[in-house]
Amino acid sequence: MTHVLVCGGAGYIGAHMAKALARAGCKVTVFDNLSTGHRAAVQWGELVEGDLLDKEALERLFKTHRFDAVMHFCALSQVAESVRDPYAYYRNNVVGTLNLLDVMHHAGVKQLVFSSTAAVYGVPTTDKLDESHSTLPINPYGASKLMVETMLEDAAKAYGLRSAALRYFNAAGADPEGDIGESHTPETHLIPNVLLHALGMGEGLKVFGDDYATRDGTCVRDYVHVNDLAAAHLLAMRHLDDHEGAHRFNLGSGSGYTVMEVIEAARKVTGKSISFSLAPRRAGDPPVLVADSKRAVEVLGWRPSFVDMPAIIETAWHWHCKPRY
Ligand code: UDP
Repeated sequence: MTHVLVCGGAGYIGAHMAKALARAGCKVTVFDNLSTGHRAAVQWGELVEGDLLDKEALERLFKTHRFDAVMHFCALSQVAESVRDPYAYYRNNVVGTLNLLDVMHHAGVKQLVFSSTAAVYGVPTTDKLDESHSTLPINPYGASKLMVETMLEDAAKAYGLRSAALRYFNAAGADPEGDIGESHTPETHLIPNVLLHALGMGEGLKVFGDDYATRDGTCVRDYVHVNDLAAAHLLAMRHLDDHEGAHRFNLGSGSGYTVMEVIEAARKVTGKSISFSLAPRRAGDPPVLVADSKRAVEVLGWRPSFVDMPAIIETAWHWHCKPRY
């Protein structure tokens, strides 16, 4: 049985990953400091509480467990916060990952699937971004993820580490069975904020900027369902069984929605009137991010199953109406 270490498995995407791995017959161990994750989200394997910045804790973990592969979701991931506190991002996302890579190396664990991001690209120069687009991040969050991708390339050459960096666009939605979902405090992401507002919770919905050069002036993003992301990780892990090197794949639906279009779709799904106020642009936000994910489709055989916004919002709404944590 393949034993997979899921770093950050108590968080939003990591918990969906743990469920998908268990469904696929893998053994799961979760390593998480529970800073933003939830103990109650760890339902498909052992939880080892710890921090990537605590290298001794990692060494103990790898001494007492034998892993075939690692999936790494631990990160600070808010663009605006990264602009305000870049050291926190470089410490957590870069130094923490370096500790993990070093300990994996000494334990002889040779496969890693890494959560990267579309924020490595910066401001797009083409309508859709493929993996050959230049990488010029405009915020410390994107820069920290790109630094890790560079480490992975060097590690492939020097130590034979096999890795896949999956550049997510905007993760969205929730487990259709309602076991797990998105739950951050404070919530900063658009779709959960819109849905919390529809439920009469939260602090009033704000739309950050309506003067971008887009069809309605608000930012365009590519929303991809969290279970489709998890499916791509499984395929990437299998790909590494017979492919050496450091690989990169975009993961997005290929369709862009403005902030206003997301709000409109949420109105239709929830049947609630959703009001908002306009606020200034948020620091570090590129105007448009839409994926060309052909490589993941062609090389990994990835077939996203949630293709439209209402279907994604439906699963998130199901969770927000009855969250379990
Ligand atoms: N956004 C917004 N109001 C919110 C949260 C987000 O207008 O309460 C905008 C944000 O400026 C960006 C888009 O929605 O243009 C998606 O932001 P989110 O934080 O969900 O994801 P990100 O693109 O930062 O990963």
